[in-house]
Formats: sequence, C-alpha cells, structure tokens
Amino acid sequence: MSATSQPARRLTIGLTGGIGSGKSRVADLLAEWGASVIDTDVIAHRLTAPGGAAMAAIEQAFGPRARRADGALDRDWMREQVFADPSARARLEAILHPLIGQHAEQDAAAATGCYVVFVVPLLIESGRWVQRVDRVCVIDCDPDTQIARVQSRSGLTISTIQRIMAAQVARATRLAAAHDVILNDGATLPDELRARAKTLHEQWCVLAASTLTSAPASMPRGA
Ligand code: ADP
Repeated sequence: MSATSQPARRLTIGLTGGIGSGKSRVADLLAEWGASVIDTDVIAHRLTAPGGAAMAAIEQAFGPRARRADGALDRDWMREQVFADPSARARLEAILHPLIGQHAEQDAAAATGCYVVFVVPLLIESGRWVQRVDRVCVIDCDPDTQIARVQSRSGLTISTIQRIMAAQVARATRLAAAHDVILNDGATLPDELRARAKTLHEQWCVLAASTLTSAPASMPRGA
C-alpha cells in the first residue's frame, strides 16, 4: 500500500481512572463535542451478552456455571471467581482482552470523530494500551468519593467496591502515567468537570488537526 493510500492517522486518547472516578461522564461529554468514543467496558458487555463472541470460550474454560439462563455471562459469579483465584482472572483476561482489542480497533478504523477516545478502566495496568494511545488522560478522584459514587450508582457493597479498587493501581501510580489529568473529586461540581473536560477537548482538537497532516504531534505532559 502506498503512503498516500494509508488511512488518515487519528489522534488517540486513552481515558482511564478508578471505578467511580467519572470516566463515563467525561466520555459522554467528549462524544457530545465530536470525539469518537470507544468504551472497552461496553465492548466487554457486548462480547459477554447472550450469543456474544466470547461466550463459547468462557463456557469452555469455566464450565456451564459461567453462563446465566439467558445465555449471558453471570457477572456476579465471575467476579467471585476472579477475586478468589488469580489464575481464573488470567484465564478470563486471556479470552477477553484480545477480543476487546480487535473490536476496539475495528471501531477505531471506522471512527469519524475529530479524535478517538479509548475508555479503558485498567489502562495503566495494561502495557498494551499505554503503548497504543498517543496520550493517557486520567480522571482523578479520592477513594472515599469513588466509594460513595459507586454505592449510589450500583448498590454494590462497600467491601465489594473496596475489593475492586484494591485490584486497580493506586491513585499515585495512575497519576504518574498521565499526560493529562482531569480532577473530579468530591468537591468537583458537574459544571466544573464539564469546564475541565472542555479545556482538554479543545487542546486535543488542535493536536488532532496537526496529527492528521503530519507525524504524531506532541504536547507536553500536563500542558
Ligand atoms: P466511572 O465510569 O469512572 O466508573 P461514572 O462516570 O459512571 O464513573 O461516575 C460514577 C457516578 O458518579 C455516576 O453516577 C456519575 O453520574 C456520578 N458523578 C461523576 N462525577 C460527578 C460529579 N462531579 N458530581 C456528581 N456526581 C458525579
């Protein structure tokens, strides 16, 4: 394929943060303003829905108990397996991660937005995603606020939320890997979050315009 027939290279942002930090909310705003948002959690749900592309392999690896009567993954049961046994987590990830990667790339190839946002909860934990994106954006939040938000959103118990948080990297580790940070702690009002996201969106649009016409442009960390 000649250089001129290569598809346009789009700026890619990896959006991450702990559970309840506000990833979905920020992703919704970026989509509203014209970014192409690809949420790996949404892809994972699609893959594990009734008839989903991952279900046959999951049932083969974990047995019929992994599948609910309607054919979808039994998420509560699976959560208990992966918490109790690191090898079960590794088996599940070995099935899901390559499929999520393939589907995310398909979606990215079809993207028409001014830039692409991959929403990846465990982006920092996965070297592959860190390599794949041009910039890592962290939604930063204090742990107490994360717990309060997730409790009111999902009804999960505090101990389950704490177990999920313990399996994610520490706040400082996430921040150290960030090119961009959006603070969304307990003191952040929705309008403040919107304004912070908008500032970065505008910077990324400028960067995206230069990325489309030249080699990947760089913007300093925390610019
Ligand atoms: P994540 O996708 O990172 O798990 P969400 O975007 O779903 O987090 O946010 C968790 C919950 O907290 C949602 O119900 C969301 O509407 C709410 N939320 C997020 N940020 C704020 C904020 N600044 N003020 C009030 N509620 C918020």
